[in-house]
Amino acid sequence: MATDSRDSISISHRSSRPGENGPSSRLQGRVSADIANFFLFLSLFPSTSFAPTNLRWLNERFFRSTTPPDFDPSKVVKGGGSKIKNDKLPTVRLMAPFTMQCLQCAEFIPKGLKFNARKEKLEETYFGVAMVRLYIKCSGCKHEITFRTDPKSNDYKTERGAKRITDGWRDTNDPRFKDETEQETLDRLEAEAGEDHVQEDKMAELEDKMQDSKREMQVADALDEIRSRNARIERNEAAEKKIVAQKEEERPFIELKNGLGKYYFNSKEEMERTLAEDKLTAWRAFHDEKGNRIKRDHDGKIIKRWTPEEEAQGLHLLPSKSEQKAKPVPGLEDEIIDDNYVPDTRTDDQILADIMGQASDSEDSTAQRMRAMRKKVAAKKSGQAAKRQKR
Ligand SMILES: [Zn+2]
Repeated sequence: MATDSRDSISISHRSSRPGENGPSSRLQGRVSADIANFFLFLSLFPSTSFAPTNLRWLNERFFRSTTPPDFDPSKVVKGGGSKIKNDKLPTVRLMAPFTMQCLQCAEFIPKGLKFNARKEKLEETYFGVAMVRLYIKCSGCKHEITFRTDPKSNDYKTERGAKRITDGWRDTNDPRFKDETEQETLDRLEAEAGEDHVQEDKMAELEDKMQDSKREMQVADALDEIRSRNARIERNEAAEKKIVAQKEEERPFIELKNGLGKYYFNSKEEMERTLAEDKLTAWRAFHDEKGNRIKRDHDGKIIKRWTPEEEAQGLHLLPSKSEQKAKPVPGLEDEIIDDNYVPDTRTDDQILADIMGQASDSEDSTAQRMRAMRKKVAAKKSGQAAKRQKR
């Protein structure tokens, strides 16, 4: 009996009085239970003077009012009875996203006013985008106002307790702020995407054009540069050629006879010196140390000498004895008899020396003499030929 009553005591103070769940009533229940246990403990020792004489009275005194008569302890679920099912929502600090007016007290709630709001995540979504409902209390009357996010219009929507004061910039004709079916929404979004696509295409075209014109300009620039460079090079080349030609013309030269062209010198002095040296070289080739005219054989051996006087007479140009003895070649007889024939007995060096001598500006006396000598020889030969013919 004692255990029964104890069970009923410990349970009754919890489940009774469903309206009162404050801490004070809970504390009161625990204290009363402890007192009851104490007296039940004392009742085990009836001989003591402290034992209460009437336990029933005690039980009624403390617990009668809290135990319902239809209480069934078997129905109590362990750990499940005392849970308070509260809809506690997370609190967030926010500013009013738009100006609104309370419907209860007509208080104006300006945009930007700060609130501690409760935040509720909605199960409903807008094409997968989460939506949130926010609960605030009117700053004038503490009446609850709710509004929620609206992904469709990138904005908020009032739901309860207040009306939105229309913002000036909001275009009420904008389909985004009107109610529409899902199909309409999809159509609208598709159309917007299409417009974007067209705009992108236009932009791409424009960019292409820009690039093209840029490239053309670059090409034109490069062409201009190449042309100007070529022109510059041509000008320079022409100028160089002109300078070279001028210098060539300014330079002293001798014109070689028999179509041998021109022979240029760097200066007049050089030309004179060269000519003199050539003359000397040529003279030395046919004279010995004493200034006698000499004749050499094929081995370079001196075979004949003429004094300068003899040379002046042109005796060295006459045919030698062996040459005179030699019978004329039958086929060539007529040619030798030709009056105009002048045998050229000069060596290559002599010919060169002659050319040099003729080329020099001033007529050389030696050349004059040599020419005169040649004429004499020719006259002699023609005389001989005439004699031969007479025979
Ligand atoms: Zn209000």
